[in-house]
Amino acid sequence: MRTIVHNNVTVGENGHLFFAGMDTTELAEAYGTPVILIDEDRVRARIREYRDTLRACIGESSMPLFASKALSFKELYRIVASEGVGTDIVSPGELYTAVCAGFPMERAFFHGNNKTDADIAYAIQNGIGYFVVDNPEELDAIDTEAGRAGIRQKILLRITPGIDPHTHQKISTGGVDSKFGSAIETGLAERITRMALDKENIELCGFHCHIGSQIFEIEPFVLAADIMIGFLADMRDKLGFTASVLNLGGGIGVRYVESDPEISVTQNVKAICDHVRATCEKHGVTLPTVYMEPGRSIVADAGMTLYTVGSVKEIEGFKNYVSIDGGMTDNPRYTLYQSAYTVLLANRADEPADALYTVGGRCCESGDIIQENVSLPHPERGDLLAVLVTGAYNYSMASNYNRVTRPPVVLLRNGESRLAVRRERFEDLVACDI
Ligand SMILES: *Cc1c(COP(=O)(O)O)cnc(C)c1O
Repeated sequence: MRTIVHNNVTVGENGHLFFAGMDTTELAEAYGTPVILIDEDRVRARIREYRDTLRACIGESSMPLFASKALSFKELYRIVASEGVGTDIVSPGELYTAVCAGFPMERAFFHGNNKTDADIAYAIQNGIGYFVVDNPEELDAIDTEAGRAGIRQKILLRITPGIDPHTHQKISTGGVDSKFGSAIETGLAERITRMALDKENIELCGFHCHIGSQIFEIEPFVLAADIMIGFLADMRDKLGFTASVLNLGGGIGVRYVESDPEISVTQNVKAICDHVRATCEKHGVTLPTVYMEPGRSIVADAGMTLYTVGSVKEIEGFKNYVSIDGGMTDNPRYTLYQSAYTVLLANRADEPADALYTVGGRCCESGDIIQENVSLPHPERGDLLAVLVTGAYNYSMASNYNRVTRPPVVLLRNGESRLAVRRERFEDLVACDI
């Protein structure tokens, strides 16, 4: 069977696009458009790839922590919990959502470069497992709050290894000049480690790094692991501290268009883990529990967004525009990063494309574009337009600009669909208005 970009996207004999084995035109009929579809089987399969590879290569306590900023709603935290792995949260809002879903908070890690005192208190009240501490001021604030709560709070320290992976600048975070973490190069990493070890109400468990996102090569991860294990050895020698946890962050790339390479999560994770094991042996470092924090590579190719075509403008000698009933409000990634996407007509997926189109959203904003130069078979009002690989950083980045309501999220599993997030209503738009 013909597949498009990923093997959960196929074209049926009726010419319709199928996703996770289901006819997208029927799903659009049932749920309306725009709608975000999530292939739950794919999400679970990706989590298991990380989980099983980490367990086999490093040990039973190692696991992936789903970076929930990529996609956050209650049912997803339940899915992640049911697979026996952890999660990252970066705001009290994500934490609240995880708590509402009954997520086991001892497996939750609180990230972010500017946690407020209120955030810290709220997370401690809710029994957060770990804070991933970004800076000395935050360390002080957590120590104070943990003291007040009468607990010893587990933490990891976010270290900046000084790596600049080959990816888009706005989603690269590993360099010394990053706004995240404490750099090894400047000596801050060692200073903050000393500080953490001296705090009465803090239990330092180990270190974290995250070098960026949408990284296709393995080398930056291997290099980051080398630097981090070197740092572990250094802290053991200088401070007598043995880290029990090494968190290597997220960032494995995902194929968005046919020209992107196909990435095997299992092979990548195995290669990184084997390297970690060998490097620890080389330095005589006790093999720590290893965590990874995949976001995109868990959910991106589990997602697809369906829209209805409204108008088609063919500006002779210039450009052709197709306008859809969503746009930057549900997917701001082209506007932010000029991200590439694969776009198809879902109700006529078997027809040959005859011209190039710019797919524009419905907002009063020229930059509201989903993709430029996509080949489509002469779209018309009422056609169903599919954008592939929208599971990550779409719904979670959605906004109400122009008071556009956010689309629903529908989970697909074993040939059945169910609503995970309902479509926003106009009443939701004025819920906070006085
Ligand atoms: C964004 C982020 C991740 C997830 O990155 P992906 O590229 O989506 O895998 C993991 N860890 C941290 C700290 C992050 O900021």
